[in-house]
Amino acid sequence: MSPDAASPEVPAGIRVHPRVGDLEATLRLALSGESLVRAKESLARRTTLRVGGWADLLVEPGHEADLACVVVEANRLGVPWRVLGRGSNVLVRDGGVRGLVIVLGRPAFAVIEAASPLLRCGAGVRLNALSAEARRLGLGGLEFLAGIPGTVGGALRMNAGAWNAMTFEKLEAVRSMGPDGSVMEQPSGAIPAAYRRCDFFRENIALGGVFRGEPCSSREVEARLDELNRRRWATQPAAPSAGCIFKNPSVIPAGRLVDELGLKGTRIGGAVVSDVHGNFIVNDGQATARDVLGLIELIRRRAREERGVELETEVEIIGE
Ligand SMILES: Cc1cc2nc3c(=O)[nH]c(=O)nc-3n(C[C@H](O)[C@H](O)[C@H](O)COP(=O)(O)OP(=O)(O)OC[C@H]3O[C@@H](n4cnc5c(N)ncnc54)[C@H](O)[C@@H]3O)c2cc1C
Repeated sequence: MSPDAASPEVPAGIRVHPRVGDLEATLRLALSGESLVRAKESLARRTTLRVGGWADLLVEPGHEADLACVVVEANRLGVPWRVLGRGSNVLVRDGGVRGLVIVLGRPAFAVIEAASPLLRCGAGVRLNALSAEARRLGLGGLEFLAGIPGTVGGALRMNAGAWNAMTFEKLEAVRSMGPDGSVMEQPSGAIPAAYRRCDFFRENIALGGVFRGEPCSSREVEARLDELNRRRWATQPAAPSAGCIFKNPSVIPAGRLVDELGLKGTRIGGAVVSDVHGNFIVNDGQATARDVLGLIELIRRRAREERGVELETEVEIIGE
């Protein structure tokens, strides 16, 4: 690939990162056949909100050794990189992401090894798959992960949680890769995590985690899963979204605030404040990132002006 800003595929004003062509050429030679390298990869189809432009370069390393090679080479060439999981907590701007996006989507990162009551899960494992395996083995306590549409890697970064449970409460150990490509495994207690964030994974790539379940019958797990699913789908829209857009301020849940401001159903272009849950913005199929960002700003302004509340986004906004 040559990073050619004059190409008809490149939207006006977008310049791919100047070293990305060198990085692509290097990686195509250096990586094993199990890795995938793609130039100008759409991120809309890799995020649950389904908006946003492309990444200059997207790589799915075949295994840890290839991943180490990717980060070392990107650092050597000065190409910025970031990791994307299932893209369920990310809003990509319409101009896309300059530099490299790494996705741990290859089979080597999606392995679950069970030694009951422990489950060792790669970063690419979907949370639904983790919770299904726990149910099969009769391990309770991990049901809360079932309806969260992300990966283990994203759950570690976000300390994802629901129904009063959080990822880090269920973890024994965490495996990670530093920005120099070195791999380490640590007890989870050695890594500080807070509500919906674990800053350790800003710098380090999550490779996986060892989760601890509580032995019980598969039937009990199934009953809890059914109950949580029922509650989730009664309170959450089915249309494409990025989950909760705002963090809950201390004074009032963000969804209730949006509801009280009368903003449910408000639309900008193809982006709509959900009628089901005020803290969700859904894509009617035609939305652009600009529409969603416009709606976010409108809600923030109304919350500030009418209620004195400063809303902070929970969804991560990336790209240009
Ligand atoms: C319908 C819906 C419902 C949701 N419900 C919940 C809920 O109940 N509770 C909740 O907590 N969240 C919820 N979310 C948000 C989201 O699913 C979680 O935050 C999830 O953990 C994100 O995982 P992901 O793989 O999609 O990560 P992404 O969205 O791809 O990435 C999120 C962040 O994690 C980083 N990241 C991803 N993988 C790695 C890795 N391997 N190493 C280092 N950093 C990484 C990314 O760079 C980014 O900063 C919901 C989202 C949707 C769309």
